[in-house]
Amino acid sequence: MEVTKQITWIPSYGKELELDWLKNMHDWMISKKRYWGLALPIWICQDKNCAHFEVIGSKEEFKEKAISGWQDFDGHSPHRPWIDNVLIKCPKCGGQAKRIPDVGNPWLDAGIVPYSTIKYNSDQEYFKQWFPADLVLECFP
Ligand SMILES: [Zn+2]
Repeated sequence: MEVTKQITWIPSYGKELELDWLKNMHDWMISKKRYWGLALPIWICQDKNCAHFEVIGSKEEFKEKAISGWQDFDGHSPHRPWIDNVLIKCPKCGGQAKRIPDVGNPWLDAGIVPYSTIKYNSDQEYFKQWFPADLVLECFP
């Protein structure tokens, strides 16, 4: 809310709408039962007695833990169907873990646009040239 107050809003009522939204926001589902979207990076051990879940934090970690399917995934974005073909080793029991089928709420997609479009993961120098943005355009329905 403090950052919102530092922004020049055009039209100015945008600031009040944003502050109202932030003040009154509630919990919302982070996942969706859909095909398209950000594949949530959560793998669950297929051994029902174990059922350990593992959250993958980077492409490097993903590659390191992959036990099958990496060759078909490598070179693709981390989306379905490619990501679902990669199984990882369960760190608890050594069994196979498979990604949960859920994808992220579309708001997560919107939230990473500033990072994904200006090469946060692949070119930090380029990213630093453009971030933070001087202008963000949005519209109301
Ligand atoms: Zn396990």
